[in-house]
Amino acid sequence: MAYDKSIEAFDEAYKVIPGGVDSPVRAFSGVEGTPPFISHGEAGYLFDIDGNKYIDYVQSWGPLIFGHCDADIEASVIEAVKRGLSFGAPTTVETDLANEIVGLFESIDKVRFVSSGTEAVMSAIRLARGVTGRDNILKFTGCYHGHSDSLLVQAGSGLATFGTPSSPGVPADLTKHTLLATYNDLASVKKCFKDARGNIACVIIEPIAGNMGLVPADETFLEGLRDLCDEYGALLIFDEVMSGFRASLKGAQGISTVKPDMVTLGKVIGAGMPVGAFGANAEIMAHLSPEGPVYQAGTLSGNPVAMAAGLTSLKKLKANPSMYVAFSTKAKKLVDGFAKAAAAVNVPMVTEVRGSMFGFFFSNKPVKNFADACENDTKMFAKFHKGMLDRGIYLACSSYETGFICAVTTDEMIEQSIKAAYEVMAEIA
Ligand SMILES: *Cc1c(COP(=O)(O)O)cnc(C)c1O
Repeated sequence: MAYDKSIEAFDEAYKVIPGGVDSPVRAFSGVEGTPPFISHGEAGYLFDIDGNKYIDYVQSWGPLIFGHCDADIEASVIEAVKRGLSFGAPTTVETDLANEIVGLFESIDKVRFVSSGTEAVMSAIRLARGVTGRDNILKFTGCYHGHSDSLLVQAGSGLATFGTPSSPGVPADLTKHTLLATYNDLASVKKCFKDARGNIACVIIEPIAGNMGLVPADETFLEGLRDLCDEYGALLIFDEVMSGFRASLKGAQGISTVKPDMVTLGKVIGAGMPVGAFGANAEIMAHLSPEGPVYQAGTLSGNPVAMAAGLTSLKKLKANPSMYVAFSTKAKKLVDGFAKAAAAVNVPMVTEVRGSMFGFFFSNKPVKNFADACENDTKMFAKFHKGMLDRGIYLACSSYETGFICAVTTDEMIEQSIKAAYEVMAEIA
C-alpha cells in the first residue's frame, strides 16, 4: 500500500499541530509507519487520502456502533442541523435522551450531559467529593478516566498508596488526594481504605477495563468493592464511557449484578458527536447546581445536534437487543482466528471479548491487571499492526487499546481479517 499523501499530510500537520495530532494515541508512536489521514468512512470501512480502503476495527475509538454514515443517524443529525446548531437553552431532545438512559440503567434516576468523557468523569468526581465532603479518591492503575488533573496519576516510589502526577503540569498537591490500587486485587483496595483512614469520597473503576487492553473485572472483585464502599461510606463510580452500550445494552451493568452509585457515559451515547454524561440516583444528583451547591456547567452541554445523534443511536440499539449476541459471536470468531494464526507459528496470544469489544495480547499468561498487561510483546504487536494495516485491516495502533465490532462488520470482513492475520504471523514470527 502507498501512504505518500498521508506522509506528506502528517509532515504538514506537524508544523502547526503538536505531534501532528489532536490526541496523542493517533500519532502511531507505538507502532511502525505514519498514521493514514482519513478522507471518509463508509459502513464498516475507512478510506484514506491515498485511496486505501480499510476494515475499521477502531470506530473512532468506540462511538460508531452502527459504523460510518448510518442513514438513520445521518438523517436525524441533518434534521437537527437545519433547526440550528446550538441555543444554550433547554431542548426536549435532552429529556428524550435522558429518558432512554434512565430507562436502561437501574442505578440512574437523573443524568446530566456534557461534551466529553473526560468532562463527565471530572464532574462526577466533583459531585462525589461534594456529596461526601471528602477529598480523597481511589482509582486503579491502568484504568483511564480522561485527562483531568486528579486522574493523571501514577504510583509514587515504593508501595506508596497516594499517587504522584503522571504528567508535568499536574500539581502534586492535587494528586496526593488520588489513591492507586491494583485492578482485580481487593487486598490493595483494603490497604488504601486503611491508609486513608476510610476518608475516601469515591472509588472509580472501569468495570470492564478497555484502556489497558481489554481486561474485565472479576465479579467477586466488583462485589468486594461494593462491600468496601458501603462499609466506609464511599461512592462507587462505574466509568462506562467505553463499555456503556458496547459490552451490552446496559454496559457492564448488563453483565454484572453489582450496582454502582454513579455512572459515567460517553462515546456511543454521542454516536460520533461530542457527548458525555454522568448520572446517579435522585438524591446524589440533587447536590448538583442549580438544585444543589456543587457547581458544574457547559455552554455546549446537551447540544441538540449531538443529542439527536445519540438518541437515534440508542433507540436503534434498544429496538435490536439481539445485536449484542451477533457482536460477540463475530468478536469471538475474529480473536479466535487471530489466536490460531499466532499458534500456527508458535506465538502465544491471549484474547478477551465482551459484547462488541475485543482484545488480544501477545502474551502467554492471563491478563488480570496493568502489570500483567505490560508483559505483552509490544514489538510483536507493532509488526502485527503494520502487516495488518498494509493488508487493509485497521486495528488500534497500541496493544493497550480495545478493538470494536459494529453493526455493519460482516462475516466476510472477519474472514478477510483472519486470512490477513495468518499471512502476517507467518511473515513476522
Ligand atoms: C474514552 C474514555 C474516557 C475519556 O473520554 P473522552 O471523550 O476521550 O474525554 C474516559 N473514560 C473511559 C473509560 C474512556 O474509555
